[in-house]
Amino acid sequence: MTLFEGLRVISFEPPALSEPMDVAAASPGEAGAGTIVETGLGLAAKYPGAKRVRGAYLSPGLVCAHTHLYSALARGMMVDILPSKDFAQQLRHLWWRLDRALDLPILEASALAGCAEAALCGVTSLVDHHAGPEAIDGSLTVIRQAYEEVGIRGILCYETTDRNGMEGARAGIRENLRFAREIDADRASGRRPLVDAAIGGHAGFTVGEETLASLAEAMRSTGRGLHIHAGEDKFDAVDSRYRYGQDLVQRLEAAGCLGPKTIIGHGVWLTESELGPLNASGAFLAHNARSNMNNAVGYSALLHRVANVVLGTDGMSADMLEEFRFAAFRHRESGGPWWPGDFLRCLDRGNRLMERYMGAPVASGSGAFGRVIAGAVADLVLWDYDPPTPLVGGNIAGHLAFGLSSRSIRSVMVAGSFVVEDRVPAFDAEAIAAKARKEASRLWERMERS
Ligand SMILES: [Zn+2]
Repeated sequence: MTLFEGLRVISFEPPALSEPMDVAAASPGEAGAGTIVETGLGLAAKYPGAKRVRGAYLSPGLVCAHTHLYSALARGMMVDILPSKDFAQQLRHLWWRLDRALDLPILEASALAGCAEAALCGVTSLVDHHAGPEAIDGSLTVIRQAYEEVGIRGILCYETTDRNGMEGARAGIRENLRFAREIDADRASGRRPLVDAAIGGHAGFTVGEETLASLAEAMRSTGRGLHIHAGEDKFDAVDSRYRYGQDLVQRLEAAGCLGPKTIIGHGVWLTESELGPLNASGAFLAHNARSNMNNAVGYSALLHRVANVVLGTDGMSADMLEEFRFAAFRHRESGGPWWPGDFLRCLDRGNRLMERYMGAPVASGSGAFGRVIAGAVADLVLWDYDPPTPLVGGNIAGHLAFGLSSRSIRSVMVAGSFVVEDRVPAFDAEAIAAKARKEASRLWERMERS
């Protein structure tokens, strides 16, 4: 048991700041394992054996709703990359060369490095979208092991695509199904895995009708949602209308691929007529402001009309507060109507996504994510923050946009266990970084030869 004593609790949605209070979180193996068992005052007498932790502020952990751990070793890449005139060339010149060069040891190093960085940034749930066409079988289990070594939660899938031939597409579907069954078997035997499975597709323009139908069938048979890029670049939206005579969302809807567990990556080029079916389905749209800016794919004037916007990094650094700030600032620059508080709601909404996949982790708890209440998952961040202006419920988004940053993170807890405590990671961060540098060099060499 861990007892956080006398801290003010920051709630993101609705934004609120509590008076000093105690929060008791159960460790693995105890009653209520992995959840918050009680909040209130004077809990020290009730839990005399608990580890006592003091600090300034406690908040729910952060959720990254869309990333690519396979790109973690691209940082500072020294490979001869042809200049690209557009997004499709960028995929061919860089990202598809990178994913073809991945083998399982490189993937393991990349996933560990990405998960470690996320944990240090207070990200307790990380939703990954994986591609690696030369090493598909078993890849999601390699990524899962990295999540478990670092100790964070996530939802994993393989980006099924036709771009490497139909056998490659079938291998992608197989890996998604295999992994969903692996998780189901664990749950059936009473274990509570930190990760769940989604069904992955790369993007509308690389997934033909046969593969889209197979993805829909995989969703139905596993009870999972589709995680796919749609309308990241204008090319994807144009291709859908040109080849299939339908907008992307209508095409996904017709195939049976929209639903409350579906995650659409980017959606920069979705049009007015796609908002209705998207919002009615309950699907999430993962907005990745920094990546969209870096790839110069444009900005959606409709973002504020999407019901379930969540925030992701798309493989940029794992810092979700930085992502939140870019999202808010880029939106202000576009002249859109949202304020930082609206993006705080988007950041918090990643918890609803986690609940739809992983809700009710213990029989006694509500299974809520993103709440510091009894029964919610004990995914928490302890902040050292000494602001120069008053911090109150009404200005939390302002402090996040203009002050609070990941350098204020002191400790991070996932499912009742510290993954970072007093700024010291519980995992071997130095070994993870050393392994990543070694495998990064090998990855770059393999890319250079491709
Ligand atoms: Zn992406």
